[in-house]
Amino acid sequence: MLQKDIEEVLISEEQLQEKIKGLGEQISADYQDKFPLLVGVLKGAMPFMADLMKRIDAYLEIDFMDVTSYGNATVSSGEVKIVKDLNTSVEGRDIIIVEDIIDSGLTLSYLVDLFKYRKAKSIKIITLLDKPSGRKVELNADYVGFDVPDAFVVGYGLDYAERYRNLPYIGVLKKSVYSF
Ligand code: 5GP
Ligand code: MG
Ligand code: MG
Repeated sequence: MLQKDIEEVLISEEQLQEKIKGLGEQISADYQDKFPLLVGVLKGAMPFMADLMKRIDAYLEIDFMDVTSYGNATVSSGEVKIVKDLNTSVEGRDIIIVEDIIDSGLTLSYLVDLFKYRKAKSIKIITLLDKPSGRKVELNADYVGFDVPDAFVVGYGLDYAERYRNLPYIGVLKKSVYSF
């Protein structure tokens, strides 16, 4: 049913799982003697967070934050509003921020500054997808799943008008979907 709206599958379910397994192994090695707090950024990072955490063989804790940027939906304004804050204190903690995609970098640079202000011990970023061409601020993830071209992608957590988050793969929407 949803498939009819998809122009092209960019990253298949199998490719996603294979990559996430590798990322989980890297994080397992890097955090063997630590107790990191994984901070998932809602709602987009939810499927990635769920699959990633199962591939990490180390003690860890999870929590979620929901943030939105002010202004219109397609162009990030840089002003970020906290919709749901963490329940966990980040002071003295090793934080791993889990994101679906980095575009301008504005959302994550806000979160990094916030966690520094809250005295996190260390802050790392893992993103499933990276769109380096969209960057407006200097910001790099420590762990990246896939680089994607400057196209609007959906699926595996990523939405268009709150739809398509439940697709099991990453795809590009047909033009006709935007113009109804
Ligand atoms: P930024 O890095 O610009 O602050 O924003 C990243 C957020 O914008 C992502 O977490 C995601 O919610 C949204 N976003 C950026 N690019 C895309 C895209 O290609 N598709 C979808 N569905 N969301 C995107
Ligand atoms: Mg996101
Ligand atoms: Mg969205």
